[in-house]
Amino acid sequence: MPQRVATCSCRQLMLRTTEEPLRVSICHCHACQRRTGSVFAVQARFREGSVVVRGNATQYVRKGDTGQDATFHFCPVCGSTLYYQLDSVDGLIGVPVGAFANPDFPAPNISVFEECMHSWVVLPEGIEHMD
Ligand SMILES: [Zn+2]
Ligand SMILES: [Zn+2]
Repeated sequence: MPQRVATCSCRQLMLRTTEEPLRVSICHCHACQRRTGSVFAVQARFREGSVVVRGNATQYVRKGDTGQDATFHFCPVCGSTLYYQLDSVDGLIGVPVGAFANPDFPAPNISVFEECMHSWVVLPEGIEHMD
């Protein structure tokens, strides 16, 4: 199994994953745009048991565009979000793909909230689309 390491900007908060992600998605929703400061977010989902976290994190609970709450864990020093949990999906952890800073990370296979997608964004061929 490939081990991968994700870190915040200042690297005091880090995590290691010991399995392949269950799913990698792109989200265009406004909340993700604000969280990332980018025009869409890319995140990978892992089983909780395959993620080991080290360092200090602060929590922020977001009331989702979808009506489901999400708890974001971010570095209190540099502010990067390193992982999050959705109330609706038990036992899973989402990790922003950029935190791995690894160009070989598996590509996203699903794109959601495309009604909020910026007009110039071009998605990878063959990606699955969802509202
Ligand atoms: Zn940090
Ligand atoms: Zn989103």
